Parts: sequence; structure tokens; C-alpha cells
Amino acid sequence: MPVPPSLQPVLDRIATEIQALPGRGRPADYIPALASADPRHFGMAVAELDGTVYGVGDWQRPFSAQSITKAFTLALDLSLDGDLLWEHVGREPSGNPFNSLVQLEYENGIPRNPFINAGALVVTDRLQTRTGDAAGTLRAFLRAESGNDRLDFDEAVVASESAHGDRNAALAHFMASYGNITNPVPTLLDQYFRQCAIEASCADLALAAGFLARHGIRSDGSTLLTRSQAKQVNAVMLTCGTYDAAGDFAHRVGLPGKSGVGGGIIAVVPGRCTVCVWSPGLDQRGNSVAGVAALDRFTTLTGLSVF
Ligand code: GLU
Repeated sequence: MPVPPSLQPVLDRIATEIQALPGRGRPADYIPALASADPRHFGMAVAELDGTVYGVGDWQRPFSAQSITKAFTLALDLSLDGDLLWEHVGREPSGNPFNSLVQLEYENGIPRNPFINAGALVVTDRLQTRTGDAAGTLRAFLRAESGNDRLDFDEAVVASESAHGDRNAALAHFMASYGNITNPVPTLLDQYFRQCAIEASCADLALAAGFLARHGIRSDGSTLLTRSQAKQVNAVMLTCGTYDAAGDFAHRVGLPGKSGVGGGIIAVVPGRCTVCVWSPGLDQRGNSVAGVAALDRFTTLTGLSVF
């Protein structure tokens, strides 16, 4: 199937189709600051390898990136820790909810993968040890790659997550008891909540994820990851990036993707482009209803998938 020369008409068509979706799901309510988001929002952006961006709907409107940031912290830590990281976190789908405590006890405090909360806490802990400011390192990276110097933490979301962070605190303390967390748990939690509370638009995140489509190369031509490491991140996104619905996402969309409970999803077409879609209404598993539907249509209409 020939890929259209400009992806703009594809995005326009998808936005029209999404308007007719019968249901949009419900915004996450376990973080009170996210609960008031309007599920009618919809935005989608595609960034080409050279930084050309196409967008539709609310594609320039900032939203809470949440677990999308886990793909970036994974890459940032992998660039510093290399294979040592994989001694502290696995790369198998968990089949359990993202904030689950089970498995940790059977696997000696080593989380199944970097995208469930336990695994993301380990990655942030390691990045904190390496840099002294994990969340600041992430923000600097996202600003540089997106070209948006105003990209920042949403302090209201940070406060909301801290006030309702018992589950993440339990995960961190439990792993610390196995020696798999190095920093003081309160420091780690503060860094993790700030990381999750990054506000960014579809355009920002599609551009920032570009290194995953460029096999590890940043927008300025420098190398963040080796080709093999970029493959590793994309592979974990494909198998673990969309909560315990990664099989369904691969079936429908066929791309490495990472979603967040703010309703955003980034997806990567290696060697071709990155896509970010946002709509706050979630399905039962925590993935954006309109977001998955839009990516499903994107790969169907363009033939751009890894399969
Ligand atoms: N900050 C959220 C949490 O830790 C992130 C959840 C998500 O987007 O998956 O619960």
C-alpha cells in the first residue's frame, strides 16, 4: 500500500471518524487532578524523522503525560546504565494491573518490566542515582527534543499524586526491602510524581519520541541510544507499553506504543515517524478509547505498522 506523501489528510479523516465514536470512556479518577478532564478532547500529531509535524484537533494543547514519560526515562537510564539496568528490572509483560504488588515477592523485588509502576520506580531510582535529578533530566530532554522551553511539571498534579500516593509508596518500600531501590523512598517518590506530572502536547511528545524512530539518534544528530538499545525500548513498548492490554494493542495497532492515564499514547514507526494521540477518556485497562481507535485507523489507512 503506498504511503501518502503528506499524512495531513489521513489525520483529518481520522479526526472526523473519531467524532462518530459511540463512547469515549472515562477520565482517570484515582488521581483527583485528572478526573475533571473533558473526554471530548481529541488531538493527534505525527512527527516525521526530520521534525516535520502534522496535527489535528487538540494537538497543541498540553495534557498530563503520566506513564508516557516511562518510555523516556527508560531510554535516558539505558543510555547511562546500559545492560546493568536489566539486572534490576525485567522485560516480560506482567499480565497484572500497572500498580500491582503481586509478583514482586516471588521475584525478589525485581519488577517484571519498566512500564508497570514498580519497574518505572526502579528506572527513576537509577536515573536519580546517575544524574541527581531524574525529573529535571527528563524535562531537559523533552524540552530539547520538542523545542518547547515552556514544557514543565504541573504542580497541581504533583500535589494530587503525592496526596494519593500510598500504592506507589508501598511498591517503593517493598522493593527497597530487597535492596532494589537506592535513594530514600521520599526522594524517589517526589522524583517519580514530578516525572508523571509533566505537561506536554501531542506535538511535543511526538517530536520528543523521534529518537525511537531514528534508531536512537536525537534531533541534533547526536546518539542517545545504540541501534540495539533503541530496538530494546521499542520492543518493551510493543510487549508491555499499554498496560495489560498490550496484546490487544499489538493486534489492533501493530506498533510499539506507550500510554498514560492522562489519555495520551505515543507510538513509533521505526525508520519512518512517531505518532502521539490524546483523548482523556479511558477504557477498563487504562488506555485512551479514542486514542487506540485513532491509532488503529492510522495503521489501517497508511499501512505503517511493524508487521
Ligand atoms: N502517576 C501515575 C501512577 O503512578 C501514572 C499511572 C499511569 O499513567 O499509568 O499511578
